[in-house]
Amino acid sequence: MTAEIIAIGSELLTPHRTDTNSLFLTEQLNGLGVDVVYKTIVGDDRARLTETIALAWKRSSLVITIGGLGPTEDDLTRECAARALGKTMSQDDSLVGSIESRFRARGTKMPAINLRQAQRIDGAVALPNPKGTAPGQWFEQEGKILMLLPGPPRELYSMFLTACLPRLREILPMAAIRKRVLKIVGLTESGAEAIVAPIYTQYTNPVTTILAAPGEVQLHLKSFGADESDAEGQVAGLSARLEQALGDAIFSNDGASLEEAVGRMLASQKASLAAAESCTGGLLAQRITSIPGSSSYFLGSVVCYSNDWKTSWLDVAAALLQAQGAVSAPVAQALAEGICRRSGATYGIGITGVAGPAGGTPEKPVGLVYIGLAGPHGVDVQEKRYFGEREIIRWQATQTALDMVRRALMRQAQFAHPAP
Ligand code: ATP
Repeated sequence: MTAEIIAIGSELLTPHRTDTNSLFLTEQLNGLGVDVVYKTIVGDDRARLTETIALAWKRSSLVITIGGLGPTEDDLTRECAARALGKTMSQDDSLVGSIESRFRARGTKMPAINLRQAQRIDGAVALPNPKGTAPGQWFEQEGKILMLLPGPPRELYSMFLTACLPRLREILPMAAIRKRVLKIVGLTESGAEAIVAPIYTQYTNPVTTILAAPGEVQLHLKSFGADESDAEGQVAGLSARLEQALGDAIFSNDGASLEEAVGRMLASQKASLAAAESCTGGLLAQRITSIPGSSSYFLGSVVCYSNDWKTSWLDVAAALLQAQGAVSAPVAQALAEGICRRSGATYGIGITGVAGPAGGTPEKPVGLVYIGLAGPHGVDVQEKRYFGEREIIRWQATQTALDMVRRALMRQAQFAHPAP
């Protein structure tokens, strides 16, 4: 079964309100094995709303509308849904009774305007709203379902969970959706695509989507199965093939961030890390320390922005800075070695570069960054040229630094436990 969600309300077409209800509904529907194939946001306009519901009803087997069930003139959902279905509406006296008693419980009389909320589409079932006055509606015809749900999130959540979910569970065949995210570093989107497309295009289930983020590519896998173990089997089968093809470019298959993946490896190898950051200004430390428990492997970071600090805190020779310039491979190396020696960490990172937007020269353009890693294996330095805004350059530098640590830890693990 495929579903379609229509979020109704002119306020949702302004920069001030976001449609979050459809995220909740999508998650719930996915859990039942129902794929959401369209989402529409439409304002409080009779013609547009009727047209949107009619189109959705024509092309999707499950349609859910959100909002527009209030008592005022601009709450048009009931009326437009009835018109789109070619149905009439009539007053449901039991709904009048329950809306009246809700007002009575608060010591007031129901305003006449609220009678609009007691209009029920002929053939629909009213869905009680314990958290508000707007009843929902459930309409079924020829195997298709239309649900009208209220807009306020607490009303929608409780109505969906108590009244809609049990009905859907009864109707739908046992089905499940499983998702998995594979995260890749060190490849461009097209580089990753060249490796994985020949594999994932062989599958219609799972469905694979490739997404690019700064310094990272993600593969989102979604499988459909008769039940949870079937869906899990489908996603695991494709994931294993993709992981094998991508080799060490994959750093996580469970949604973990790069800093989290590196943290787990450091902890399991009982290794520690420290950093000397110039152009990243502590961003690397910020990312690493955002992971709970990072104190067990991260010693700290020196933000050594000035040449004086590079010399006084990390022992970078003034003559080296003078001869090579602060943004250079030998200085990145000296920073990595200096922080390693000073802190006693297993691994030391040194980062120096031109984050821009000013400060670039033809020899040392904006985006040029050197990253050094000192550790049991010796010292490596990578020269990188990143493009984009200052924040993107800084982020990418930390991404490379974390990846260098990850690869060094992988080599170390192989060295400690060589493959038979
Ligand atoms: P009411 O009886 O409260 O008027 P309603 O069903 O008519 O209920 P709306 O008036 O359309 O709902 O929306 C009420 C409030 O609910 C909105 O101001 C907004 O804060 C929230 N809301 C509506 N739709 C959404 C949505 N799709 N996602 C998140 N919040 C929403």
